[in-house]
Amino acid sequence: MSEAETAQTASHEFQADVRQILELVTHSLYSDREIFLRELVSNASDALDRARFEKLSDDALRDAEPPADLPAGIRITVSEADRTIVIEDDGIGLTAEEAADHLGTIAKSGTRAFREALEAQKDAGGHPADGFIGRFGVGFYSAFMVADRVVVDSLSARPGAAPIRWESDGGSGYTLEAGDRAARGTTITLHVRDDADDFLDEERLRGIVRKHSDFVPWPVFVGEGRANQDQALWRRDPADVSDDEYKALYRHLTGDWQEPLAWVHTRAEGGVSYDAILFIPKSRPWTMDRLDFEVQLKLYQKRVKVLDHATQLLPRHLRWVAGVVDSPDVELNMSREMLQTTPALTAIKKNLTKKVLDRLKDLSVEQAEDYVQFWTQLGHILKEGIAEAAMGGSEKDKKRIVPLLRFTTTKSRQSADVVDRWRSLAQVKADMVEGQDAIWYLADVDKDRIAKSPLLEAFKKKDQEVLLMDDPVDEWVAMHVPEFDEVPLKSVAHGDLDEEEEQREEEDPIAKAAKDQARPLVGWMEALLGEDVAGVRVSNRLVDSPSVLVSEEGAMSANMERILQAANQDVPTRKRVLEVNPEHPMVKTLARLHEDGKTGLEPFARLLLDHAAISEGKLDDPEGFATRLQALMEKAASAM
Ligand code: ADP
Repeated sequence: MSEAETAQTASHEFQADVRQILELVTHSLYSDREIFLRELVSNASDALDRARFEKLSDDALRDAEPPADLPAGIRITVSEADRTIVIEDDGIGLTAEEAADHLGTIAKSGTRAFREALEAQKDAGGHPADGFIGRFGVGFYSAFMVADRVVVDSLSARPGAAPIRWESDGGSGYTLEAGDRAARGTTITLHVRDDADDFLDEERLRGIVRKHSDFVPWPVFVGEGRANQDQALWRRDPADVSDDEYKALYRHLTGDWQEPLAWVHTRAEGGVSYDAILFIPKSRPWTMDRLDFEVQLKLYQKRVKVLDHATQLLPRHLRWVAGVVDSPDVELNMSREMLQTTPALTAIKKNLTKKVLDRLKDLSVEQAEDYVQFWTQLGHILKEGIAEAAMGGSEKDKKRIVPLLRFTTTKSRQSADVVDRWRSLAQVKADMVEGQDAIWYLADVDKDRIAKSPLLEAFKKKDQEVLLMDDPVDEWVAMHVPEFDEVPLKSVAHGDLDEEEEQREEEDPIAKAAKDQARPLVGWMEALLGEDVAGVRVSNRLVDSPSVLVSEEGAMSANMERILQAANQDVPTRKRVLEVNPEHPMVKTLARLHEDGKTGLEPFARLLLDHAAISEGKLDDPEGFATRLQALMEKAASAM
């Protein structure tokens, strides 16, 4: 847009998305109307941050010119006579082009996320509930919740920019014309709607600022007095900060309507100095599933914001931590890349990581219920830290995470108490039974199937507890934790359970006889099924089931194969080993018939393979199976 064009009034249409949001804001969302002020104050604060930041590298930017005796900041005034609320800032301002771009289209994430959440709710047939708008905020457009006309007067800090005036009644469009603001910054005038009289009240507005914008790092004046606190919460002595203040900071940072589960307020002086408040959320932040997810961790240098999303301050597996970090040892005009290699940042990251993991450990000991709540929501992300250690991550983190791991097990899964349901490796180790030489686990992402697996039969019989790993990352975790406190972790789906069994045989001659009888059958089956399996052997792990498929020691499990395939990875499928239960009646009968030289046993042998495949939910040849089953039924019927 050229300067000539803005010299006279020009009318513009809102983008369709904006119209949709305005429609909603003006007609249906009446709860939480007060958050309009939070949104406008936060935009003003961002504009001030931006101006200060850009001024560092561009001296030509206009300086702020706040009224005499006042620091640069945000000023809110009310006029009952004019029925207006005016919000003014000394920030970066808007050029005509920026006004058209930012106040006529939807560019930024907050507003877009709101729209998406809204659509999801609409698709589900719902209506935006109370609190909905407060959760997301709808940015600038929320002004129309309380105003039927909004006028934006702005002068951009950029040298040569001309003042502009943007105006809209929240209908289908807006006008943009030359304005007359003389100092850098933006003045937003809200012409208050008839039904929003209660906002024409200084005290009310002051209360709203205190409630929603207390932590804005710039002074916010309402009328004559400053409304927000002037010392940053994180610079105060933790002993003087109330729980409510921490909770309010959390809400301010995240927009989460729930309280945080726990927090850490930590301060360091000396080598590297910093003040930090870090929050552990109660539930998995909904934004984590979004592709454009960004960590909610703000980095300040002496109260001046350096980054909104400081990815560099914590490792990936702690990306759900929200908070603020303020350090005099970071530089203001640092690029993201530079941050990565700054020794001060590296030291801060190390300390903060330890603080968070230690806090989790305390929780797990002192507030087990809260910890389980955390674990069920965010444990699967924390677990990534274990695999990360192998990919250049920190071994120390891994050591701290292992004791935080929780699993349901064959013995705990039915427990009515959630805390009892989730067991640590230490608990499982402590409850090992005599003769048990490993902590056993079964990995299968199918939550229904996992507890019914035939692979568990022998362990049930021996009263040994088995970890049920049904989270896709669990098997990676197990691979990176080969032992816990000198006890190996072993998969029940891998290898041969030979050693213990040989002992059992000596004690149990009947079992030994059944095995000896099954061996010729197994040899014959191996020749028959050689195309489909890596081998056939007599099983040591079955009690009730006739057959099962296992992976060879060190080979990729069926579970892992399935996970990788689901992620569209090219995985060469490895043949597996078929184990048959020598004490199962069907196997016994087959062994006898085979010994007697009977023919026609192929369908039965194949059915043993089918059975094993079905029990792990993966039948490769359903048609062949149907044919075999039918043949078998015919035989059975004719014999009746
Ligand atoms: P968001 O804050 O999520 O980006 P908004 O609808 O609140 O969305 O604001 C849209 C954009 O308008 C902002 O990103 C900013 O570029 C611009 N803007 C809003 N208020 C101001 C202001 N007071 N000063 C300068 N720019 C502003």
